[in-house]
Amino acid sequence: MIDESQAGHPPNVKFWQVWRWPLHWQILAGLFGGLLFGVVLVQFGQANPKFSPSVFAAQWVKPFGVLFVNSLKLIAIPLILASLIKGVSDLQDMSRLSSMGGRTIGLYLATTVLAVCIGLVLVNVIGPGRGLPQDVQEKLLGDQAGKDRVEKIAASAEKEQGKGPLQALVDVVPENLVAAASNNGNMLQVIFWAIFFGIAMILVSPEKVAPVKAFFDGLNAVILMMIDLIMLFAPLGVFALMASLIAETSDWRVFSALAWYSLTVVLGLAVILFGVYPALVVTMGNMSYGKFLRGMLPAQLLAFTTSSSAATLPVTVECVEKNLGVDPKVASFVLPIGATVNMDGTSLYQAVAAVFIAQALGIDLSFYQQMTIVVTATLASIGAAAVPGAGMVMLVIVLAAIGVPQSGLALILAVDRVLDMCRTTVNVTGDAAVATIVARAVAKKQVGEKS
Ligand code: ASP
Repeated sequence: MIDESQAGHPPNVKFWQVWRWPLHWQILAGLFGGLLFGVVLVQFGQANPKFSPSVFAAQWVKPFGVLFVNSLKLIAIPLILASLIKGVSDLQDMSRLSSMGGRTIGLYLATTVLAVCIGLVLVNVIGPGRGLPQDVQEKLLGDQAGKDRVEKIAASAEKEQGKGPLQALVDVVPENLVAAASNNGNMLQVIFWAIFFGIAMILVSPEKVAPVKAFFDGLNAVILMMIDLIMLFAPLGVFALMASLIAETSDWRVFSALAWYSLTVVLGLAVILFGVYPALVVTMGNMSYGKFLRGMLPAQLLAFTTSSSAATLPVTVECVEKNLGVDPKVASFVLPIGATVNMDGTSLYQAVAAVFIAQALGIDLSFYQQMTIVVTATLASIGAAAVPGAGMVMLVIVLAAIGVPQSGLALILAVDRVLDMCRTTVNVTGDAAVATIVARAVAKKQVGEKS
């Protein structure tokens, strides 16, 4: 479906070929259409005080976006189970799995640390917090709604704080599969179960495992078709999400006050997207970056509008397999893990945000504190769930580690949603870049083994 030649349609859904454009154009049309509609609603609200754009959008527009995102989320866990079990069992030997696993984790960690370092360099050089006007700062810190939100964020972060260093490992192994699969936040546990099951399948004799394998192969195909069907509604879903986002944003003036901070984050994300990833994809993945970006555009646009790597995962998998030609065995292993642990955009954002808050509050950070940010932002981004706003919750942990008051979060709340859209786009792109590199390494190894 995501294949351009099929104009965004699954081959078996001919009766529904109502949209003729390639998928990325459909999504772009939805995005700009939604933006325009949101602006019209806001203008209409200004001209008619009785009309509330945010209430109208919440009641009549947003539900279509929520329906779309929910149906994508609905697919995430079954997709991980079916595609990962199929992918791992297709590998047929354990050494391939371990070398692929080692490469994947190594690349994920390296790109995350690099992202934090880029963020730190930029925020220290640009110093967006040093120029924040006093009145803006007082307004943001004194706002009661902001204080309430910070309290809520801190409460969600509390569960994560004070855990021992090995707790993250313990959290990966579920006590019960059904309980783990009942919550999209437990994706890592489901991934663990699927890999474990796939490994056991490799070890069982081929005759015995054949029906199980056939079942998961079939299930995987059905789930991919479900994604294709959901994506027929992508333009409408994206339209609704964008329109309601614009209509619900009440104060656009804070954006100009926080322009330097936002620009620093966006600049850092651009360095990753147009500097780091091309270097990796071209040299280690042996693919032109133009082809890579064109292939990934539908997933990137979806990540941008939904702000959720988890909701985007089904489309990321399809883009990487069909448009970039990555071996499904690799994609189905690398991408679900990446969606949950590899968040380069989030880690960069956390580094910039932590230093920005410190600068604005007049706190000088020592070299040791900046190094602490490298470690904690890396871990915090790994621990962040692939859902909107999760990066900000985990930012509380970074702030606590360097002794910056969490009340400072109020300074960046207003622009967080927009920056979340941008960082999620980078998060998803990073997973695909690593998938491309791992696929190339696996293919090279196979050629070496044959010759
Ligand atoms: N929304 C991001 C994601 O899903 C996580 C975050 O930074 O908030 O990748």
